[in-house]
Amino acid sequence: MSEQNTTTRLDLFIDRMVSQRACLDAAITQTAGRSEPVFELGLGNGRTFHHMRERIRDRDVYVFERAVASHPDSTPAEHLTILGDVRETLPAARTRFPAGASLIHADLGGHNREKNDTFARMISPLIEPLLAIDGLMVSSDRMYFDTLAEQPLPEGAVPGRCFIYRRT
Ligand code: SAM
Repeated sequence: MSEQNTTTRLDLFIDRMVSQRACLDAAITQTAGRSEPVFELGLGNGRTFHHMRERIRDRDVYVFERAVASHPDSTPAEHLTILGDVRETLPAARTRFPAGASLIHADLGGHNREKNDTFARMISPLIEPLLAIDGLMVSSDRMYFDTLAEQPLPEGAVPGRCFIYRRT
């Protein structure tokens, strides 16, 4: 039997999940004790939202989503849900949250990597001004920021599957 060296979709999926958790846990620890809220961009099934809500007890976690369809255990309260397209709700959030967010997690992409990259380029300038000084941004896609610095990944995260940025 020949050895199989190709990376499968299952491998990529597992790498993304493991990396998401490692990066989120590191960012949650590093921003603990901050007063500014946390933003979850893209609720989906609500797995990462559930993880963040369970691990973050000191700050509100606001969810930006165009259509809520999450697991009942992972559905944010109405007052923490910012419904609509992030291309409109992110610019509006600048007035509502003048101090910005201590932690922003974005997982807005689908299966098409090219489309995800185009979208990441489009929303990077909308996310950038919302991060508080010394805040962290965790993303499943590479982002295109002018002023946020890419950070080293924590142990357990797979390069290219998750990204962390800091406002200095
Ligand atoms: N992290 C989630 C989890 O663990 O279950 C999965 C998020 S899912 C991959 C992406 C979500 O982003 C979808 O629910 C989709 O509706 C949302 N989304 C994508 N583009 C959006 C946009 N322009 N505005 C608001 N939400 C968007």
